[in-house]
Amino acid sequence: AKTIILSKKFQGYPQETNFKIVEESLPQLKDGEFLAQAEFLSVDPYIRVFMKAVGAPIIGEQVAKIIESKNSKYPLGEYVVGEFGWRTHTVASEKPGDFFNLPPRLVSFGDLPKSLALGALGMTGVTALYGLQLCEPAAGKTLVVSGAAGAVGTHVGQLAKLQGCKVVGITGSDAKGHRLVKELDFDAFVNYKSEDFEKKLAEATPQNIDCYFDNVGGDVSSAVLHRMNKFGHVVICGAISTYNDENTKAREVQTPVKVNHLVMEGFSVTRWRNKWNKAIDDNLKLIQEGRLKYFETVTEGFENTPDAFMKMLGGQNFGKAIVKV
Ligand code: NDP
Repeated sequence: AKTIILSKKFQGYPQETNFKIVEESLPQLKDGEFLAQAEFLSVDPYIRVFMKAVGAPIIGEQVAKIIESKNSKYPLGEYVVGEFGWRTHTVASEKPGDFFNLPPRLVSFGDLPKSLALGALGMTGVTALYGLQLCEPAAGKTLVVSGAAGAVGTHVGQLAKLQGCKVVGITGSDAKGHRLVKELDFDAFVNYKSEDFEKKLAEATPQNIDCYFDNVGGDVSSAVLHRMNKFGHVVICGAISTYNDENTKAREVQTPVKVNHLVMEGFSVTRWRNKWNKAIDDNLKLIQEGRLKYFETVTEGFENTPDAFMKMLGGQNFGKAIVKV
């Protein structure tokens, strides 16, 4: 069995030297336990923020096949999604993982790819579904989502379109932006790397902005906040623009929040632990009805997991970034 550990504390953008593959010996299975072999690993922004302990296995969810079992709830040959970290094999039980505090869940989506348990039919899908509700989307409102071409962003934007919103996505590449418009029916996109970003944002939101689903924070979000309508809703989902920069000074956000009477609400997806499976069922239904598309950027090979993670942080994914072991 192999595991990838944090060999050096992150500083700035993660690099190859932050990771090391080590051999791990597996304990004998006890009653209640099962052995799972990784098929898909998840690389997520939170790993950059929360992974601090040098020498520890990198945290993260994975989809794994049960190859031995001493627990009838987890039968041989079934697939589970669990917080097993970046490792090839895991001896697990019903015990919840440390991060999302969820026990391993069986994956059963019919013919759909099992990797969806890491994205649209997993944590990022739950985030999108419930996080969007806090934005109070409704027909006719203008919703802006940053990190629009990512796992959460592609999902949020599509759900907001289903609710009748005008949806504008902010992303870091024109190619990804065009896909949002062409393939996901977004009304417009704005590339935050373009020099006249604020002007383009204004052009794309002539009636200003009612809902902002914020995945990135920093200057991009400050620009969006200055264009909010009164009593608009801002949902802070993440702030990826700050994750790799210890010295960032985000522009002042308090003033526009105050003068525009914004309701600004942060959340962690863990809030919805008790209705997690309901969101997965709802998202599954939307996919099965053809109303929700899912997108994945797949990297092959366990040893390429750090690379997939770094590429995701660098914006080289469309939809959910995953690794096929
Ligand atoms: P994504 O699939 O969106 O991948 C990350 C994307 O972030 C990249 O593709 C890149 O796209 C963009 N990005 C990278 N650096 C910057 C930057 N400096 N400024 C702006 N954008 C940048 O990841 P997820 O969908 O998994 O996560 C999106 C956000 O949601 C993150 O902030 C994450 O922490 C947060 N999140 C929060 C949860 C919660 O419980 N609150 C749960 C899950 C996710 P681009 O080309 O556009 O730059």
